[in-house]
Parts: sequence; structure tokens; C-alpha cells
Amino acid sequence: MQTDTFEKLFVEELRDMYSAEKQQVKALPKLAKAANSPELRSALQKHLDVTKEQVERLDEVFNDLGLSSSGKTCKGMAGIIEEGQSILDKDYDEEVMDAGIIAAAQKAEHYEIASYGTLRAFAETRGDRKVGEILDEILREEKDADLTLTRIARASINTRADGGIGDTFADDEEDEEERPRPNTRHRPGDGSPRVSR
Ligand code: FE
Ligand code: FE
Ligand code: ZN
Repeated sequence: MQTDTFEKLFVEELRDMYSAEKQQVKALPKLAKAANSPELRSALQKHLDVTKEQVERLDEVFNDLGLSSSGKTCKGMAGIIEEGQSILDKDYDEEVMDAGIIAAAQKAEHYEIASYGTLRAFAETRGDRKVGEILDEILREEKDADLTLTRIARASINTRADGGIGDTFADDEEDEEERPRPNTRHRPGDGSPRVSR
């Protein structure tokens, strides 16, 4: 009996992310619309534009491979979007809702960061340089989006959502993030392991 190949796994996972991005194109406008902070709304709208471009670049990858992009639904992203929707359905105060929207959006970003990290490594293993570069580019965009959301949350939204009582905890953590770390540690907010140099 013939077994499924590594190529098959690669293409299936690629199709999973194609589906994930398509779902994000529909979900991000809902999150942006519900956002109260103009900064948060514009960050989500910007990532929507980036996400639309990601769909186009993945189309390019499938074209290059001579394969169809369809045939898989990403259940992981569907679940994350469903959880996000259940936050939107609640009757939270403006600031609390914004904190919830960031939480929902970051879960999606981390799913993507994990997935593209894997896919980029797969492309490297296959020796597919062009596809690897596209996946690397998308991975960096997802990390950027995640970082932007962390900055917005730390700068204001989480403090206001908590009733305006600031403490030094967030400041401490931010300082820690700026400091160079030993290369075996993971960076908070970054879903991928650090590569030692
Ligand atoms: Fe994306
Ligand atoms: Fe998935
Ligand atoms: Zn994303």
C-alpha cells in the first residue's frame, strides 16, 4: 500500500492556511467595526489589507505548484473566529470590548504564526526557495500584526478595561522584552522558538 507523501502534507497544510486567510478576510471587518479605539480599528483594517494580499500571494504559490488552492476548511481558524464572535455578542463596556477584540485577534495571529513557521520550514526542507520566501514574508507580517496589538493593549486598552488602575506589572514586562535574552528562551507574544545564532 502506498503512503501519503511529505508533499501531500505540505499542500494540505498550505490549503489549510489559504482557508484560514479567506476566513480572516471576512472576520476582520467585523472586529474592526466593533472596535471603539480608533487606533485599534485602524490596526485591524490595516491587517485586513495585508490579509487580502496574503491570499493573493498564496494564490501565486498554488499557481507555481500547479495545484488548486481549494479543498480544505481550516477548522482551527473557524473555531477562533467563533470564539471571537461570542466576545462581540457580549454586552461589554467599550474598553472591555476592545480588550476582548485584541484577545480574539491575537489568537488568530498566533495560530497563523505557528502555521507559517511550520510551512516555511517545510518549504526549506523541500528546497523550494521561492515559496519559502513568500511564507517567510507572510510569517513576518503576522508577527508584526501581533506586536502591534500587544503595543495597543499595553499602551492603554488593558489599563482602561481594568478600570484605569495602572500597576507596574506591564512596565516590568515591557522592559524585559526590550532586553536581549539568552537564545534558548522564547519571546513573549512570539509563537515561534528563537533560533540560536
Ligand atoms: Fe494572515
Ligand atoms: Fe487549520
Ligand atoms: Zn494575520
